[in-house]
Amino acid sequence: MNTGSSQPQSNGESTAAAQCNLCGGERLYDFFEMLAAPVHVCILAESPDAATRAPRGDVRLAFCLDCGHVFNRAFDPGKLFFDSRYDASLAFSHVFTQFIDSVANRLGEQYELRGKDVIEVGCGDGFFLRKLAARGNRCVGFDPSRDIVVRERVGDGQVTLIPEYYTTAHRDVPCDFLCCLSVMEDFERPVEFVSDLGRILGDRTTPGYFEVFNGYGAIERQHSWSILYEQCNYFSAETFAQLFRRAGFEIARAGNCYEGDQYAYVEASWPGRSKTETEYEPIAHAGSPPPEITSFQKSHAENLNVWTERLNRWRENNRRVVVWGTGGKGVNFLNSLPAHGVQFAVDINPRRQGLFVPGSGQEIVGPEFLRDYQPHAVVITNPLYEREIRRAVASQGVSCEFVAT
Ligand SMILES: [Zn+2]
Repeated sequence: MNTGSSQPQSNGESTAAAQCNLCGGERLYDFFEMLAAPVHVCILAESPDAATRAPRGDVRLAFCLDCGHVFNRAFDPGKLFFDSRYDASLAFSHVFTQFIDSVANRLGEQYELRGKDVIEVGCGDGFFLRKLAARGNRCVGFDPSRDIVVRERVGDGQVTLIPEYYTTAHRDVPCDFLCCLSVMEDFERPVEFVSDLGRILGDRTTPGYFEVFNGYGAIERQHSWSILYEQCNYFSAETFAQLFRRAGFEIARAGNCYEGDQYAYVEASWPGRSKTETEYEPIAHAGSPPPEITSFQKSHAENLNVWTERLNRWRENNRRVVVWGTGGKGVNFLNSLPAHGVQFAVDINPRRQGLFVPGSGQEIVGPEFLRDYQPHAVVITNPLYEREIRRAVASQGVSCEFVAT
């Protein structure tokens, strides 16, 4: 476990991108720095020792004065790797499952998805595809983090998961509807990625649904725990739509979803040929850095102060404290606050239990652990799940303080 008293230092390896990765503009305003953050939040460590050796990278967020996009200028995609240990699944959350059901139902109705061929790029364990397959579709998912090819029947439909990147080699795989969820945050060159999707579709006119974390919304809320190395891009609904326009797609709809505005989505069609649009509508918040950008580093420092004091107080009073959630926010929280005395992190995903938080090294336990441990306080790193967390804690016979980050 990391018990050092100082913040981790950068190894000085990172070089800063000189151009915006969305519009190519060079007027970049640097506004936030977080050095030596764990590179992966979805690949957990198998021992406390391995956790301390987890790879680290620097975050230097820049705001593009030309298009309003926010991205990590120091991002190095060479540091990231995706293998079968990569587990970003939220399928164990009732709140998330309800949301995914509602997306699948809405798209199913709107695009008459029944008896259709659906492709998902970056499908993970196929959680979303199975929902579409259950509506009677033939669904194929691509994800290099998978181990083996999986084929199964789901209701009237079927799902095939292929452990590969989706490339022009898969041009012959039929596609009536394309989707890609929670993936494009991680790409250094998102315009190239979306343009490639168009190239693979070729002359086939194809609608699609695309979704990312609303990173710009987190910045607006000054929620600095949401900043992760793994995430290169902090899209808003506007900049996400801009990405698709630049790659030659036609936008049908764009906006926010999931518990209000946690995610940004775009429904866009590949028109069967690349359009060479050169004029783009300016984005509302481009031009000069807005207050949420200029105040972000200071807000983060204030968050750190508040939490350092609180954790110190708990430790002095011998309080047992657990952090709930080992997604990005939990990993960032634990790594930003070294010497906090927190020994355990709780996660409802059984595949994460028994592993260790990269960097800071807490052991990940299931909710049952709390029955014996009887914590005095539970830190909620993602308030979206507060109700289900409180219920899970109560069901273990624990009565304690809850504090959201
Ligand atoms: Zn730009």
